[in-house]
Amino acid sequence: MKINIDKFITTIAHEVKNYAVPVVDLIAVQSEDPFKVLVATILSARTKDETTAKASARLFAEAPDLEGLKKLSENTIQKLIYPVGFYKAKAGYLTKLPEALEPFNSIVPQDLESLLKLPGVGRKTANLVLAVAFKKEAICVDTHVHRIMNIWGYVQTKTPLETEMVLREKLPKKYWLEINSIIVAFGQGLCRPVAPHCDVCPISKLCPQTGVIPRRRPKDQKAQGKTDRKTFISWNVNGIRAVEKKGFIEIVKKLSPDIFALQETKAQPGQLSEELKNINGYESYWHSAARKGYSGLAVYTRQKPLKVIEGLSLEEMDQEGRVLTLEFDDFYFINTYFPNAQHGLARLDYKLRFNQALHTHAEFLARKKSVVICGDFNVAHKPIDLKNPKTNQKNPGFTPEERAWMDQFIAAGYIDTFRKFHQEPEQYTWWSYKFNARERNIGWRIDYFMVDPKSNKRVLEADIMSDIKGSDHCPVILEFK
Ligand code: SF4
Repeated sequence: MKINIDKFITTIAHEVKNYAVPVVDLIAVQSEDPFKVLVATILSARTKDETTAKASARLFAEAPDLEGLKKLSENTIQKLIYPVGFYKAKAGYLTKLPEALEPFNSIVPQDLESLLKLPGVGRKTANLVLAVAFKKEAICVDTHVHRIMNIWGYVQTKTPLETEMVLREKLPKKYWLEINSIIVAFGQGLCRPVAPHCDVCPISKLCPQTGVIPRRRPKDQKAQGKTDRKTFISWNVNGIRAVEKKGFIEIVKKLSPDIFALQETKAQPGQLSEELKNINGYESYWHSAARKGYSGLAVYTRQKPLKVIEGLSLEEMDQEGRVLTLEFDDFYFINTYFPNAQHGLARLDYKLRFNQALHTHAEFLARKKSVVICGDFNVAHKPIDLKNPKTNQKNPGFTPEERAWMDQFIAAGYIDTFRKFHQEPEQYTWWSYKFNARERNIGWRIDYFMVDPKSNKRVLEADIMSDIKGSDHCPVILEFK
């Protein structure tokens, strides 16, 4: 499908007029100072605009120019810019910046090659500085531009660099300078990475929506059972009663999946509010641990299941509320919360026994119909699935034994649905509450949707919903037909 790029860009440019201006553009307009644009751009990498804006303001109050920056120690810069992502590395870049600018007469250079010589400046940063600070012909391709250009089918590329190269060939020059700020605002507002708001998008009738799972609103949904496409969401809520206070019911209503599976509910049925047990449009099923405030599962489903099976028929495991299986016409849905191997690997043996029992359970069911398994597996499978693989090799969740079980499970044909679609690093589902880990994206991918070997073709899309807060985990999503 060939799109009319002029129509797309002019329509969304009009749409984003009243949206928040991306922070680097704002600083450029307010300061008209290439030094501030450069510094803010370095700070903005992998950091939310709001955090960048506050950190930039603190830093510029102490160091309004290069001379001011020279006087600050690396430690002071760290404190001023915290909690931007990778603040230590960025403080190091900024400490070296005055010296690095000396060959350019201590002013920010106006060409790509020179900018790329500066510490902490990659292609994206350099292009953004050229476009925003100097109004030079440059196309800054960040994750939003790369993603949305591919959704539109205007490019078919695997990396932002490839996208930049294709755009340099085909995007009319009149859009080069502003394309980043328009699309970043659009990508943060309507065309979000997860559940974009296609239902209110001004170009929805023209957009091919390549690879997109639009948000679904209750009024748009067909009656359950009359549509092939089903949306499943899984979330370790780390305490359902706590997350209820943070707007859980509104989240369910907004996302409106066909099945919403929860782990670590940490509640007995008698501790649940009526609102939680009876969300409009859903049946809910609960499997709690015998021990209060521990483990536990729940599944909300629009369609009433044929059968609900609690546990694995193994007393040792079932008293911990770790497996809840719902049977539907043409698939089984297994919601599971794998044990944690625990400090000192005290429960590693127990965990490996659980893993094997779960695998056997899935194999048994897969002989009859499709099996979807979701939940907190409490293991990062590969080094790409956690921020610090080297330092965690002996820690629970990344031991060779736990990873070997995942190897075995996947070798048996089970599909890690997220990796079927996404190969990029730094995609996590759990972050420690300590050290501002989520803000800094120091996380682990330990929550999964898996399907049995024969159901690969039923998987339409899978993703991580990292913008949904309320727990130390974020939800994961599967579109299944
Ligand atoms: S229709 Fe959906 S996918 Fe396409 S641009 Fe709009 S929000 Fe994005």
